[in-house]
Amino acid sequence: MEAYRGKAIAGGIAAGRLFIYRKEKRRAKREAGAGPEKERERFLKAAAQAEQELKALYEKALTSAGEEAAAVFEAHSLMLSDPDFVREVERAVSREGVSAEYAVDEAGKAFASMLAGMDDEYLKERAADVQDVAQRLIRILQGGDEDAKSPEQPVILAAEELSPSETVQMDQRLFLALVTERGTETSHTAILARSMGIPAVSGISPRPEWEGRMAAVDGESGVLYIDPEEGLLSELENRKRERELLARSLEALKDQKTVTGSGRRILLYANVGGIRDVSAALAGGAEGVGLFRSEFLYLEKKSLPSEEELFLSYKAAAEAMGEKRVIIRTLDIGADKQADYFELPEEENPAMGLRGIRLCLKRPELLKTQLRAIFRAGVFGNLSVMYPMIASPSELRRAKALAEEAKEELKKEKIPFAEMEQGIMIETPAAALLSGELAKEADFFSIGTNDLAQYTMAMDRQNGQLEEFFDPHHPALLRLIEETAKNGKRAGILVGICGELAADPSLTEEFIKMGIGELSVAPSQILPLRRRILELP
Ligand code: PEP
Ligand code: MG
Repeated sequence: MEAYRGKAIAGGIAAGRLFIYRKEKRRAKREAGAGPEKERERFLKAAAQAEQELKALYEKALTSAGEEAAAVFEAHSLMLSDPDFVREVERAVSREGVSAEYAVDEAGKAFASMLAGMDDEYLKERAADVQDVAQRLIRILQGGDEDAKSPEQPVILAAEELSPSETVQMDQRLFLALVTERGTETSHTAILARSMGIPAVSGISPRPEWEGRMAAVDGESGVLYIDPEEGLLSELENRKRERELLARSLEALKDQKTVTGSGRRILLYANVGGIRDVSAALAGGAEGVGLFRSEFLYLEKKSLPSEEELFLSYKAAAEAMGEKRVIIRTLDIGADKQADYFELPEEENPAMGLRGIRLCLKRPELLKTQLRAIFRAGVFGNLSVMYPMIASPSELRRAKALAEEAKEELKKEKIPFAEMEQGIMIETPAAALLSGELAKEADFFSIGTNDLAQYTMAMDRQNGQLEEFFDPHHPALLRLIEETAKNGKRAGILVGICGELAADPSLTEEFIKMGIGELSVAPSQILPLRRRILELP
């Protein structure tokens, strides 16, 4: 048995086989290793191998996932033999003397951007497929193995790092636990694990030879065991059972209101990543949804979701929650949440770059489509809208002006919609410091402590190396939360917390004293937090 100690970033215990997720970083070198004729031959040979792989994938998908899923590979085969694509690669190889992989990369990018610019939705979607085909060819040309894309049975997933865009490509129901090299308690890996109620450990670098081996993850102490001994497995099994018993004892609190001993009513809401988590939120005893991270609706797709698609998702969430409130956050893409079709420019500092409301204000149609969908879905339940990454009142004003435009349009088009509260995330120190001004224009605040902490301490929330410096209870962070709560209270608006700190029981009493009226946490954290609040004076 081997044991590797990392950092516990999401609690729980799990045992199962390891699946190593490898992300191949492929860079196509420009210089050709051989003459044009040889490069051309290499390309044709790679294309033939790609064709074989795609055929096998098609057959596999046909039996395991059906015709619709398999059709993707058929489309990839067609692209592979597209005469314009082949001609362009051959031209670059023979005229410009570049390597086959470079020619494939360039042709792939050119075709993808041409498709992405088309009006036809179907053709637009093909842009990402062309990129996929080009990546397959480059991988073959460089002699790499087929990418480990997705597990097929329940596994402990180990990776250097997992981005939300990668996890949405996999069947997340198959994850028993997550083990990553990078990632902190507020990283997306931890958030995903918590929302699924599975353990996660970071700070452990996965090795290829671990593939398929039996392992156990202790998300309480942050240890990964490889080939665990029987004795350990039964000890972990006992602890797991105890956890389950505890969870069952909390069930009685499911339908209770959350009130402190002295009668302070606290709204206990859930954070969700999409409609799939809404049922977990209800089952977990949520009184509402305090943060619907709408970016997952975008990450799951290969092109922009339409207003109708967004509307249907929000409507489903509104209907499932009934009278309970659902706060939909507008798109917070950028930084570590990337989708290729946005074609965002490379940035030196993505966390401080074109993300959240900034991207939406730069591309107003993007925001307006979301707002139309949210306002329309509001007819079917109790929805509110929330803008992320606000740093200045002017940004809120611009977002609200677009909201007015969206409503005017809907009115003219005679499409039913609902009026609703418009709130903001307080997740930049600027917003916390200006919360007095912002409270005059926002209907509510929700403090995003994950980003607020990273920007206040200037510490990347993804970087596990900073652990010894990172203080989740840093006085500067707590002071900004207090300032925000005070200003919100003065203006008579609700102030909540939806960052991971909301679930920290050692701060609950302090938060409530500050005037925080709502806490939004992962569905699995609701009942333990409710008990904590019920026990408070
Ligand atoms: C936050 O920053 O605290 C937050 C809740 O948003 P996200 O984790 O999605 O950035
Ligand atoms: Mg945030």
